[in-house]
Amino acid sequence: MLERLEEIAQEVESSLAQIDSLEQLEELRIRYLGKKGVLTQVLRGMGGLSPQERPLVGKAANEVKARIEGALTARASTLKELEKARRLQTERIDVTLPGTRQFLGTKHPLTIVREEIEDIFLGLGFMIVEGPEVETDYYNFEALNLPKDHPARDMQDTFFFGPEVLLRTHTSPVQVRTFEKTAPRVPLKIIAPGRVYRRDDDATHSPMFHQVEGFAVDERITFGDLKGTLTTFARQMFSPQTKMRFRPSYFPFTEPSAEVDISCVICGGGGCRVCSHTGWLEILGSGMIHPRVLEISGYDSEKVTGFAFGMGIERIAMLKYGIDDMRLFFDNDMRFLAQF
Ligand SMILES: [Zn+2]
Repeated sequence: MLERLEEIAQEVESSLAQIDSLEQLEELRIRYLGKKGVLTQVLRGMGGLSPQERPLVGKAANEVKARIEGALTARASTLKELEKARRLQTERIDVTLPGTRQFLGTKHPLTIVREEIEDIFLGLGFMIVEGPEVETDYYNFEALNLPKDHPARDMQDTFFFGPEVLLRTHTSPVQVRTFEKTAPRVPLKIIAPGRVYRRDDDATHSPMFHQVEGFAVDERITFGDLKGTLTTFARQMFSPQTKMRFRPSYFPFTEPSAEVDISCVICGGGGCRVCSHTGWLEILGSGMIHPRVLEISGYDSEKVTGFAFGMGIERIAMLKYGIDDMRLFFDNDMRFLAQF
C-alpha cells in the first residue's frame, strides 16, 4: 500500500508537466483528491490493515496528499504567471509612445489673405498672372522708368546675382512682361501675386515677402477708377465702414502717385497705439501708370491710360489679424499657424 501511495504521487507529478490550463489542473485535482478520487479510494482500503500498519500508512497517506497539494499549487501559480506573460505579450501597450494625434492641415495665414485678395479682384473682373522671381535688371528697373543712374533705385535694397540678374524687388516686372505680350490691345485688368526679395530683416520687414501687384489699362482709365477699385477692395477686405485716404507720393513708374491709407482697423479712426494715434494705416502704394512705362512696352500713351498699385500681403494680414511681428509668418510654429 505504501508503494501504491508513492506511485500515485509520481503519477500526479508526471501528469502536471502536460497540464497547461487551470481548468485541466482542477480536473487533475478532482481525479486524485476528490471524494471519489484515486487517493480517497486507496485510503478506503485501510480498513483491512493491521493495527500496526494503520498509523504508518495513515501518516504516509497524509504526506502524499500534502505533496500532491503542494505540487498542484505550485503548478497553478506557474500557469498564472505564464498566462500573465502571454497577455502582456499580446496586449502590450507602450505608454511612452506619443499619441496618434491627427493633424488636419490648415492654410497658412498668408495663403488665406492672398486668396481673399484674389477673390475680391476676380470679382472686379481682374485676371491673375504670375511672373519669374529671378528677374533681369531690365524688367525689374529699366522698363519701369528706372534707368541705371536713377537715384530711386536705392529705395529698394536689391539682391543681385550679377550686374543684370537679380531677385525681383517687387511684382511690377509682371506689368512689363504682360504689356509686352498684350500691347497695343486694351482693356487689360491684371493682378500679379508673388514673392519678392529685399535686403531687410526686422519685426516689420523680411528678406522675402509677398506682394500683389494690380494694374489696368484702357482708353479712358482715370484716377477715379483707381480710387473706386481700391475703395471697393478695402471695404471687402476689412469692413464696409472702412474710410480711404490718398496721400501724394512718388514712385518712378507712376505719375501722379499716391500712398493709400485706410481708417484704423483697431480704433476705427479715433486713434490708438496700432495707428500711432493718427487714426490711419498705410496699406499700399498706387498711381497712374507713367506714360513712359506704357511707351516702353508698346502702348500709345496718347490713346490709353492705366493705373497700378502694389500691396504687401504680410502687411494686409498683420492688419487683418492684429499681428505685430512679421517673422511669426515664417517661424513655422504650429501654435501660431493653427489659429487661422
Ligand atoms: Zn487706431
